[in-house]
Amino acid sequence: MIYTDWHIHSEASYDATLTLKEIAEGAKQRGYVNFGITDHVNYNDDKFLGDMKRSVDSVKEFQKECPEIILGVELTPIPKPTFDYVAKTGTREGFTLPESAKPYDIELAQTKEQLKAFGVRYAVCAAHARLDVTNPKEAPLDRDAYIKEWYRQQMWLASDERTTILGHPWWTSKNVWYDDFSVIPHSMNTDIAAVLKENKKYVECNEYFFRSDKTTDKFRHQYAEFLRELHETGIPVTYGSDSHRIFLNHDITVEYLTAAGFKDGDIVAVEPQDLW
Ligand SMILES: [Zn+2]
Ligand SMILES: [Zn+2]
Repeated sequence: MIYTDWHIHSEASYDATLTLKEIAEGAKQRGYVNFGITDHVNYNDDKFLGDMKRSVDSVKEFQKECPEIILGVELTPIPKPTFDYVAKTGTREGFTLPESAKPYDIELAQTKEQLKAFGVRYAVCAAHARLDVTNPKEAPLDRDAYIKEWYRQQMWLASDERTTILGHPWWTSKNVWYDDFSVIPHSMNTDIAAVLKENKKYVECNEYFFRSDKTTDKFRHQYAEFLRELHETGIPVTYGSDSHRIFLNHDITVEYLTAAGFKDGDIVAVEPQDLW
């Protein structure tokens, strides 16, 4: 059912160690027809742009021996005031986010034109952290606040021109709905689906949800059903192992997808005409 992987981190990501050679060997073992490298670009500062340059240079070099490899990127929403400060000063040093009564406006580290100039062909864009509070680490673990904020970011990403694939919808490092996915209002998912569809976006089936020890069996079944509904709405579903340190295998994920009614051919690659 899974013959392609659109979300893999190489050692150019600050939190990953996989070499392109290891990734290519893993992909070959699984019989993948193609696969994408999506290193992190969180901020528009020297550190992240340096990582991106390393990612770009190494992938372009590796393509000479492995043409199946595709250059992508993973983009993380950041508060607009932080983006603006770095754009002006070139560094995040010395910056403190001004307090705000309402959620911060959202920005991504690079424009589509800047990404294309790097040779990037597509972007996996995904919510990672709260942008509705000044200090997320000190904010109480309020489930409803998380749901509201993830909804806001995912709706924003679903229409942004940089999003090729909406990455790991409803992923969070906090265990706020990993026991029961139904705490997220169904209407939010139909809203997100409508915007994804209108803007011809892909959605990701991310390995994490079916593998993490934080998610329950009940949640995994519900999550596979959620993906199934998106698929039935006509939104193409891609697969992302989101591998960082070892190349993850997709066997458990396929079991849950099969139980939810997914068939061979339902998990797809990004079409050539949808690449930049
Ligand atoms: Zn991510
Ligand atoms: Zn990732």
